Amino acid sequence: MAYDDTNIFARILRGEIPAKTVYEDEHALAFHDINPQAPQHILVIPKGPYQSMDDFTAHAPDALIAGFFKAVGHVARQMGATETGYRILANHGADAHQEVPHLHIHIFAGRPLGPMLT
Ligand code: 5GP
Repeated sequence: MAYDDTNIFARILRGEIPAKTVYEDEHALAFHDINPQAPQHILVIPKGPYQSMDDFTAHAPDALIAGFFKAVGHVARQMGATETGYRILANHGADAHQEVPHLHIHIFAGRPLGPMLT
């Protein structure tokens, strides 16, 4: 399926919709989830038209892939969650209930997160 550049995260990247940004570099943007599921719930998105992890890793330039994952690690450290723990999650497609068709990694922290989601 073609990337839909009207999705909400594409619009955040273009500055058309506000977001509570916590980190930004040339590869990634990180911001608070509008409906947090943990005391800290940050979304990290790549700066490019990628719907999913499989799309991203198949089509993005290596520098963007590396930069994006470095940004995820940076944000986890910035959240102060490396000692107590955190969870990262990426949904893709209907079975995973992906709501926004732009790759995003959720980072959850700030409380015991329980067993892994299924
Ligand atoms: P998904 O189910 O696609 O993995 O998660 C999408 C996430 O995006 C949800 O956790 C939802 O709360 C968040 N979200 C949806 N619309 C907006 C928005 O306009 N701004 C922000 N910051 N988060 C959003």
